[in-house]
Amino acid sequence: MSKGRFGVHGGQYIPETLMNAVIELEQAYNKYKNDNAFEEELTELFNEYAGRPSRLYYAKHLTQKLGGAKIYLKREDLNHTGAHKINNVLGQVLLAKKMGKTRVIAETGAGQHGVATATAAALMGMECEVFMGEEDTKRQSLNVYKMRLLGAKVHPVATGTATLKDAVSETMREWTNRMEDTHYVLGSVMGPHPFPMIVRDFQAVISKEIKQQLLQKEGRLPDAVLACVGGGSNAIGAFYHFIEDSTVRLIGCEAAGRGIDTAETAATIATGRLGIFHGMKSYFCQDAYGQIAPVYSISAGLDYPGIGPEHAWLYDIGRAEYVAVTDEEAVEAFEFLSKTEGIIPAIESAHAVAHGIKMAPEMGKDKIMVINLSGRGDKDCVSVAKYRGEDIHE
Ligand SMILES: *Cc1c(COP(=O)(O)O)cnc(C)c1O
Repeated sequence: MSKGRFGVHGGQYIPETLMNAVIELEQAYNKYKNDNAFEEELTELFNEYAGRPSRLYYAKHLTQKLGGAKIYLKREDLNHTGAHKINNVLGQVLLAKKMGKTRVIAETGAGQHGVATATAAALMGMECEVFMGEEDTKRQSLNVYKMRLLGAKVHPVATGTATLKDAVSETMREWTNRMEDTHYVLGSVMGPHPFPMIVRDFQAVISKEIKQQLLQKEGRLPDAVLACVGGGSNAIGAFYHFIEDSTVRLIGCEAAGRGIDTAETAATIATGRLGIFHGMKSYFCQDAYGQIAPVYSISAGLDYPGIGPEHAWLYDIGRAEYVAVTDEEAVEAFEFLSKTEGIIPAIESAHAVAHGIKMAPEMGKDKIMVINLSGRGDKDCVSVAKYRGEDIHE
């Protein structure tokens, strides 16, 4: 496959002014990814700071209630800051530091990636500025507070719909303005090459651990690995080391919102078309004119109008399957997992749990399913309560 391409997807669809920055990044990454000292430093951060390896938990009660496949949960929710995002930001901020950068910038939607980046920047003594849609800064004031507490500066973005996609565009613009001392910490497996590769490599620790842990517990590979898909970083992280193992089904769970037959959806594979946006070719939700469509999901982490290019390719070649899960199904899974296992999942992760609940009874008891629990659900209690018609104070 040619450089930076996943089939027809990926590439570097960026203005000339940004080329030098991505070339510098690619060269630095190629150097450090084969550097033992870098690897050791990152492993130490993963283990001592983020709390890796995360547990692979046998969900006995869930398994018994559903009466089918044996279900394991990969507990990324137990990481420092409560999700898989820390894997990527520790890798990228360490890389930026090695490159001699003193400042990092990031986009954020609901604020999760902004908080993670601000965390890594505080740890490694980097200046940090986060771009966030103005609408989102109002809806997610707690995360705005956390970023400031961690020493970051938050810039509200008022252009377009004043949400995530506008924040990405603004962060790219800012990077163009100031690339000498600044690294752009992109939050998912998207954007121009080399970002989809870099973010995937830092998240691939998830499937590396699943493989080792399951071999130890069961002496074999899983039959299916499930993960929710926004941009696709936790999913590609959970899939990566199984791509060559053709017996392992890889299933990405997109946010259908109110349903894929409505306009209020964020299911890119189910409803999107090929396009070019944010520096990459991939599938995107679009209107009749080819403009990026506004997307909706109860889960703020999944309402991105595109999907990472490697997923688009895995879909094209039939190696991974993508299913759409509605708000209602995700909320039911959020409640069900809380009651059966005493684990409150992130509403994003609940999309994968929901599909696991559907699939497990159809699989034999001798089968094994792993669900990636990308994050914890404390942050979602207010909005799920509201969805159920309850008004609780934050
Ligand atoms: C951000 C987020 C996601 C979505 O991002 P991906 O890049 O698709 O993984 C999923 N789960 C949680 C908990 C998140 O915070």
